[in-house]
Amino acid sequence: MSFQQFNIELFDFLRFATTPFHAVEYLSRLLIEAGFTQLHEKNSWQLEPGSGYFCIRDNGTILTWKTAENTEITGWKMLAAHTDSPALQIKPLPEKTSNSYTQLGVEVYGGPILATWFDRDLGIGGRVTLADQDGNISIKTIDFKRPVATIPNLAIHLNRKVNEEYSIKRQKHLLPLLCQTVGDDFSFHDVLRRQVEEEYPQLVIKEILGFDLFCYDTQEPQLTGLHKDFISAGRLDNLLSCFIGIKSMLQRDIQGNCLLLCSNHEEIGSSSVAGAQGNFLSSVLTRLTPDAAEHARMCSASHFISMDNAHALHPNFIEKHDPQHLPLLNHGPIIKYNANQRYATTSRSAALFKSLCLEADVPVQEFVMQNDLACGSTIGPIVATSLGIQTVDVGVPSLAMHSIRETTGAKDPYMLSKVIDLFLTRAL
Ligand code: ZN
Repeated sequence: MSFQQFNIELFDFLRFATTPFHAVEYLSRLLIEAGFTQLHEKNSWQLEPGSGYFCIRDNGTILTWKTAENTEITGWKMLAAHTDSPALQIKPLPEKTSNSYTQLGVEVYGGPILATWFDRDLGIGGRVTLADQDGNISIKTIDFKRPVATIPNLAIHLNRKVNEEYSIKRQKHLLPLLCQTVGDDFSFHDVLRRQVEEEYPQLVIKEILGFDLFCYDTQEPQLTGLHKDFISAGRLDNLLSCFIGIKSMLQRDIQGNCLLLCSNHEEIGSSSVAGAQGNFLSSVLTRLTPDAAEHARMCSASHFISMDNAHALHPNFIEKHDPQHLPLLNHGPIIKYNANQRYATTSRSAALFKSLCLEADVPVQEFVMQNDLACGSTIGPIVATSLGIQTVDVGVPSLAMHSIRETTGAKDPYMLSKVIDLFLTRAL
């Protein structure tokens, strides 16, 4: 496969995966098409060696694995990424109507660059909980798939300091404008009911009970740059890594025990039922290897690659980077280090990834935060700490992380994917 073909498939995923719930829906569809079996945590499991399975928790986190035919193999090759991205989440009672305008109250989910959310054509998507005709509760994903809201900037004539010292007040400035209404009887629940009816015409809705809905940018992913050097898209952090992981899991010739966790709630610290600090991964691993001593052997013999985007050198802000560590777009995946283990990489875990890059003929780069700036973190250290598995934190170089629209190199997703493909097909 060429990097161009890889990007076409990646763009399809990015278009569909407007929320973590949609990302999981898309990934599970690919898994079912490839013959993987869905398991539910509440059921007992009959597992066959050499088979592929997946399990979803709380709609936004998916864990998929394929075991070796040879049950003597104890270790696992594990991958992780996250399904969520910073966004604006709609409040439970969001309607606010005045002067004929109806706006929606939103909370800030994670750490977006808020200024990038203004003057965008925003869609709304997520999941809705509802009671059906018989009073049963069901959960449905919905996506308006068109711009239904916008947060207009204030004209510069009314805000002369907008380019110098403007600060965004979250409660006052961020309310998306949804529509113009006549009278005061606008109901967001009615809007949702109509949308659910449109997407699920067979469903009889008794009542909308709640929702987890997000605004997202409807602008399509694009190749940008004179030579189509870059990819510009929303939610590259970290849907890109989810897609790399699933493509690798779907290879026909993967060897040994392989696993991919695509987890929700990373952007808010991973502490939740579905987040990587929750017990989803450990609980599934315990079911796969119930014996405590075998479980300890399994963890000790396993390798974990945690994938999350990394900061490439920004040409306008060279001083923000350590001068010896200047990773570039289109120059290969990045290994992320931090002396305080905000990234789980050690020289030992990095060695595995470097050897894979060497064998895949992919260049590799190294990143460490400039000392005067605080370092971010990701899923890697959480897994390393809770399970005691050797972990390396890696990612594709990217610019404008947490902007509504981020940039990476056109060849970057494919390069990391080649390394991850090799990880899962090579015996360790
Ligand atoms: Zn991320």
